[in-house]
Amino acid sequence: MLNELDKIKEDIQKDITSLSILQIKGKYLSKNGVLAVMFKNIKNIKADQKSEYGKTLNELKTYLEDRIDEEQGKIKIENSNRKIDPTAPFDVNTSKDKRPHILDLKGSSHPLMQELEKMLDIFQRMGFDILESRQIDDDFHMFESLNFPKGHPARDMYDTFWTDDGFVLPAHTSTMQNRALRRLGPPPIRVVLPGRCFRNEATDASHEHTFYQIEGIYVDEGISMGHMQATIKEYLEQYLEKDLEIKMQPAYFPFTEPDVEFVISCPFCNKVGCTTCGNSGWIELMGCGMIHPNVLTAGGIDPQKYTGFAWGVGLDRLTAIKRGISDIRKLRDGDINFLRQL
Ligand SMILES: [Zn+2]
Repeated sequence: MLNELDKIKEDIQKDITSLSILQIKGKYLSKNGVLAVMFKNIKNIKADQKSEYGKTLNELKTYLEDRIDEEQGKIKIENSNRKIDPTAPFDVNTSKDKRPHILDLKGSSHPLMQELEKMLDIFQRMGFDILESRQIDDDFHMFESLNFPKGHPARDMYDTFWTDDGFVLPAHTSTMQNRALRRLGPPPIRVVLPGRCFRNEATDASHEHTFYQIEGIYVDEGISMGHMQATIKEYLEQYLEKDLEIKMQPAYFPFTEPDVEFVISCPFCNKVGCTTCGNSGWIELMGCGMIHPNVLTAGGIDPQKYTGFAWGVGLDRLTAIKRGISDIRKLRDGDINFLRQL
């Protein structure tokens, strides 16, 4: 193992001249970088070699940090002697130690998309398919197929945007339920449907006119509320990396029966009360319920034979909870300095 550390030192000497500082930090000092892996490996080292291994590894880390400081110092001197060419493309004039910042932005995805990927990965491992929702839809998919007949008062719960041609910007990803049932049936159907949603409403720290939702449906013979509770709890525990207590309280959606608000114990304060949970110790996280028989029928599924559940969870809200963001509007402000902190 000690030979391996010598080899890493040689690599560092080579890399320090050929790679940028950001690349070096990424390769050696990041969370999954070469040194982090070696540190994690300490537990596998034989007891009599452990202390020497640890010591050598720490020396290597100090050596690398010193070399980085040294390189950064050189760059500063280079820059102070450099003349700027105002006609050159903007990044030519950017000093070498600032360039990684631009490269970093070019190559990084938005925090919402990073969280979406993590969530979809969890669902895929649980056996769900993925189908992306549409960003413009029609009355049938937004309302009628979901058991909101024309004139149904519950339509007013959704302040939607309509186009002059009578199309609608989806106010929830449930617009995809009918398509998913038809496309993926006959059951078993297990699918998550992530997509963008739009609501014509005033915005505040926890409401946005545009947000992402992840819809999920599971239809098969003998599916019950118990399956729903276990599936959603498992997903949230995996995502928030905490054991959670859950409560289900009554809600109302025309397309499920019974309808439930899924409530979790606050993952930050263990129910003591904190700003994230508004000092209640609990967080109302999402709507869910057993899919209404009329919705199954509209999707070509026999409700006498099959049952299923559905949920819709806000990606922005979960991201804000997980990353400790107090105002969800900040996720869409386009403020690079804010996004880079996440
Ligand atoms: Zn709390």
